[in-house]
Amino acid sequence: MNTSIKRNPTREVRIGSVFIGANHPIAVQTMCATKTRDVDATFRQIVELTEAGAKLVRVACDSQNDAEALEAISGKIRQLNPELQEKINLSVDLQENYRIAEKIAPFVAKIRYNPGHLHHAEPEIPWREKVRWLAETARKNDVALRIGINCGSIDPTKKAEENPIFASALEHVAWLGEIGFDRFCVSMKDSNPETVLRINRLFAKRHPEVPIHLGVTEAGVPPIGILKTRAALEPLLFEGIGDTLRVSLTVPNERKREEVEAGLSLINDVAAGRRTVTEGWKCAGLNIISCPSCSRVENGRFVELAMKVHEMARYAQEYPITIAVMGCRVNGPGETDHADLGLWCGPNHVNLKRGGELLGSFPYDEILGKLKEQLDRLINERQ
Ligand code: SF4
Repeated sequence: MNTSIKRNPTREVRIGSVFIGANHPIAVQTMCATKTRDVDATFRQIVELTEAGAKLVRVACDSQNDAEALEAISGKIRQLNPELQEKINLSVDLQENYRIAEKIAPFVAKIRYNPGHLHHAEPEIPWREKVRWLAETARKNDVALRIGINCGSIDPTKKAEENPIFASALEHVAWLGEIGFDRFCVSMKDSNPETVLRINRLFAKRHPEVPIHLGVTEAGVPPIGILKTRAALEPLLFEGIGDTLRVSLTVPNERKREEVEAGLSLINDVAAGRRTVTEGWKCAGLNIISCPSCSRVENGRFVELAMKVHEMARYAQEYPITIAVMGCRVNGPGETDHADLGLWCGPNHVNLKRGGELLGSFPYDEILGKLKEQLDRLINERQ
């Protein structure tokens, strides 16, 4: 379908039954937002997203319970008809608990690690040794790796760099090269489309051989989330950059397939030579960033909250103010640091921030009113 898109000559990487890189079609992928421990719901979402066209479905795995659930999910997949089974390729998303990789590697086709999270668990072990161990685990289990860098959880040793995401990517690519592991791809995600465009161009120039996973992180609710993603990904795909992609959208669980549909539609447009967003497009007024939610979301009310923030803040459309709404502590504190106003969700309370300053934690029923007070104050100050 998308073989007509001119592509950079990246190296071929096999991920289960799908190949990315070289001249293979650009693979659309997505991530489950169900609790991984909820085996039935996660299994159903994996099947639904695969049937919608996802070549790879990612699942968060942070604990022994998640690992056991993944094993049970894998057992259910093996009971499906062979044709569907063959189409399902699972990727696992690791955070601090990188050691869990050993338990889940037999059930997945790819492991995503985030360089920013390799400094927390077992801090006495240098990150290079952790990556060596991950690469050996991947090798033993015939799985691929992704170096997955995200603006909301930057490697603390890179924060002072002018371009921390790029610096982190270069360092990890160099190390995997030194230890002779080349079955990997790289993602460098930011919530600002301009940054995604710039970093991926830079990286593709420096490492034309490395397959790239594209995405704008925390793009938010559709249709603006799709527009932000296209603003970065359309120019990149037209330049031959990108081997796999995810459109990250804040939607309820039952609408998760929209991420896949948005990805497929983007690829179809590029294959047909259609540009839908002018290069250089930016969110001129109010910019609401929100994560797509995943198994780690602290309260199921998060998606509803993100949507209500859009409605509540409609009156402020013309003001160049950024509000970040995040589902948990993983990228929540980091992403809200860079926003004018930020919310990140805990189990019963939502943390409200102004820039890097925490203003307080409020119950879900009160947070919108508190956010509005701060938004009004900010607008007044800027007039
Ligand atoms: S911020 Fe938390 S809940 Fe949202 S996608 Fe990231 S890890 Fe998942």
